Amino acid sequence: MKGKVNTEFSYELFENGLDFILSGLENLGKKQLDKRAYKFGILHLAAGIELIFKERLRREHWSLLFENIDKAHAAALANGDFKSVGFESLVNRLANIAKVCIAKNESQTINELRKKRNKAQHFQITDTPAAIESVTAQAVSFALDFIKKELSQPKMNKQELDTLEKIKNKLTDFKAFVDNRWNKIQSLLQKYKEDKAIVVDCVQCLQKAVIINGEHPKCLFCNSEFKPLNLASDWASQFLGISDYDHIKDGGPSPTMICPSCKEETLVEIGKHKAQWLCFNCATSWESGDLDTCTICGNLFEMEEMTVCDNCFDKKIADPNT
Ligand SMILES: [Zn+2]
Ligand SMILES: [Zn+2]
Ligand SMILES: [Zn+2]
Repeated sequence: MKGKVNTEFSYELFENGLDFILSGLENLGKKQLDKRAYKFGILHLAAGIELIFKERLRREHWSLLFENIDKAHAAALANGDFKSVGFESLVNRLANIAKVCIAKNESQTINELRKKRNKAQHFQITDTPAAIESVTAQAVSFALDFIKKELSQPKMNKQELDTLEKIKNKLTDFKAFVDNRWNKIQSLLQKYKEDKAIVVDCVQCLQKAVIINGEHPKCLFCNSEFKPLNLASDWASQFLGISDYDHIKDGGPSPTMICPSCKEETLVEIGKHKAQWLCFNCATSWESGDLDTCTICGNLFEMEEMTVCDNCFDKKIADPNT
C-alpha cells in the first residue's frame, strides 16, 4: 500500500514540475509579453523548480516533504492534506540530507527568480524584457542540469521525456536572445572599460554588465538604471548575502559603508584582493590593505600613519576633550 501511494505521488510531482517549467517558458516566451503572461510565467517557473527540488527530496524519503517530519503520514501524503516543506527547509534538506550541492551562482539565480515571483504576486513588476530573458535562461539551464544529475535515474516515462524535450526547445530561444544581446553590447562595454569604468554583476538580469563610472549606474544588458545607494545595498544583499535587515535585526555586518572619497554610504566590499572596495556612487575603488577602520567612528579611511579618520582627527584637534 505504501509503495502504491508513493508511485502515484511521484508521477504527479515530477511531471507537474516539468509541466510548470514548460508553462513558465511558454508564457515568458510570448511575442507580446503583457503583464499577465509575465506574472504567470514567473509564478509557474518558480513553482516548477520548487517541485523538481521536492521530487529529489521525495526520492530520498517521502516524509521529507512534510514541513514537520514528526507529522509525516502516508495517508496525509496520498490525499495532499498536509503542510508541505517550505522553500528554506527544502533547500537545507537537499544539502544536508540528500547531499545535493547547489553552487553559489546557481542559488543566486534561484533566489533572484523567487524575488521576481514574490514581486509578481503583488503586481510590482519593474523588470525589463532583457532581464526576464536572462534570468529565465539561467534558471531553466540550472533546472535541466539538476534534472540530468539528480533525477534521470530511474528512466523517465514517455510523458516526462516529451515535456523535457519541449523545455529544451523553448530554452534555445532564450539562450539565443542572451547571446545576441551580448554581441550587441560587447564593444560598448569594452569602451567603458577603457575609460576606467568598473563593471559588476547586475541585480536584475544577473549578467556582468553594470557600469560604475561615477554617473548613474546602469546595466548595458537589461537597460536597468539604478540609484547608487539602492544598488549598493541590493548588490551586497544579492551577491554577498549581507542585508540591511540582518544588520539592523541581528547586528550583523553592514552591507554598505561610508565612502572615504564622496562620503555617501555607497561603499561595498565587493571582493577579495584586487578592487576589494568599490563605491557605487563615485566609482572609486581600493585594494585590500588600502583602507582601515577608524578607531573612533568606525568608518573606513585611507590608511596612513594614523588610526583615526581625518574627520575624527580634526574634531580631536578642535576639542581635545571629545
Ligand atoms: Zn541587467
Ligand atoms: Zn564614493
Ligand atoms: Zn573617524
